[in-house]
Amino acid sequence: MSLIEINKLMKHYPMGDTMVRALDGVDLSIRGGEFVSITGHSGSGKSTLMHLLGCLDRPTAGRYMLDGQLVSHLSDRALAQVRNSKIGFVFQTFNLIQRTSAMDNVAVPLFYGRQANVRERSKKALERVGLDHRATHKPSELSGGERQRVAIARAIVNEPKIILADEPTGNLDTRTGRQIMEIFHELHRAGVTVILVTHEMDVAVQAERVIRMRDGNIIDDRSVDENTRKDLLTGVAPSLPEPAPEPDQSPPPIARPVGM
Ligand code: ADP
Ligand code: MG
Repeated sequence: MSLIEINKLMKHYPMGDTMVRALDGVDLSIRGGEFVSITGHSGSGKSTLMHLLGCLDRPTAGRYMLDGQLVSHLSDRALAQVRNSKIGFVFQTFNLIQRTSAMDNVAVPLFYGRQANVRERSKKALERVGLDHRATHKPSELSGGERQRVAIARAIVNEPKIILADEPTGNLDTRTGRQIMEIFHELHRAGVTVILVTHEMDVAVQAERVIRMRDGNIIDDRSVDENTRKDLLTGVAPSLPEPAPEPDQSPPPIARPVGM
């Protein structure tokens, strides 16, 4: 059975007379333990999809089954509970609390969940990302890569089944990005389901499966082997649908009037 199962998922944002179809009827299923990357141009709907998968938001329409539970229609409070027990989120900009130590940043989800052994568990999470020696440092005293490690420690401190990472290496240099990717590989090897958004194809092909989005839809979904890796990196990627023709005039494709 799938860990994640979404059907006809939509997220529309009203904008004046038009509707931005950030997600336009996405179907997707992901098994427990998979390592999936999602890629596509800016504005294609990647972050919107991640927010819905991460129970940070609710869809306009469609169904989301997470770990056997229908979550698409839950209240904010119930969504927060699901999120806290099953999902860890990693952002491009780290989103750490500036005034407090690495250790206390990592402990935040434990306070929400009223968990015991806060210090011990936070320390263990920091050890897992190789940062226990920086436990008392504040974010301003850490490098970009170290900040992202703290953010990953915070994401895994509750031992969630799923890690969602939205452009986690986007603010890092190549070498540091590689070190961060190594942590995701390690989590995947430990059985965690990893879903990673990136617009860099050389990062995307490190996953077992690459999903490509365009204009709020999935346009390609393939498992990665030596051949597909090469095709994706060189941009050949056979059996891809032709790009949608550009409309003759405005409005642009992402801001079509409803019903078109
Ligand atoms: P990506 O992460 O692939 O760059 P997003 O999911 O952030 O794309 O955005 C998809 C589309 O939805 C874009 O056209 C974006 O402008 C629009 N969008 C995203 N969030 C909102 C919002 N809160 N209100 C209005 N439009 C939004
Ligand atoms: Mg985005």
